[in-house]
Amino acid sequence: MLWDDFMNSEWHDWRGSGKSEDRLDKPEWLNDWLERHRLSVDAAPSSDELAALKQLRLLLQRMVKDIVAELEMRAEDLTELNKIMKGGAVIRRLTMADRLYNIALTPVDHNWRQVMAEIAASFAHVLVDADASRIRICDNPDCLWVYYDDTRNRSKKYCDDKCCGNLMKVRRFRARQKAAARKPT
Ligand SMILES: [Zn+2]
Repeated sequence: MLWDDFMNSEWHDWRGSGKSEDRLDKPEWLNDWLERHRLSVDAAPSSDELAALKQLRLLLQRMVKDIVAELEMRAEDLTELNKIMKGGAVIRRLTMADRLYNIALTPVDHNWRQVMAEIAASFAHVLVDADASRIRICDNPDCLWVYYDDTRNRSKKYCDDKCCGNLMKVRRFRARQKAAARKPT
């Protein structure tokens, strides 16, 4: 989804090296990301626009943390999100394919304000049309990847079981071994 893909632009090395990178600062990543989500902008972000994007990411991080902690959404965060959505208008169009109707939303502008509005709207949609209690932050404290848990029993604790899941299993195993070794025989 657009919103979580955007949030994960702040990348942390899940293996625990302490390395992290801000992919919003990488033009190639940004272009790929725009293409992936069929968004178009007339120009690369200015330094002010980049700062605004990072501000939006901070807002979403705060909101996601509150949701994961089962706290009520802060009124000022809601106001802020609405302000960002106001920055981008859409044109609605009824479409039909195989007798299935759909309303297509086309962004009016091709600027970063519009992109930010689309990100904010994508997040708002998950709260309305999906299940906010399925929003997760990876349980590996070095990773912090944000994702939507779409498993049937809502049990997805890690962004990826092969990577973070395995790593944490090994860490727990080693911690148990260490604890056992410390015990007097
Ligand atoms: Zn992870």
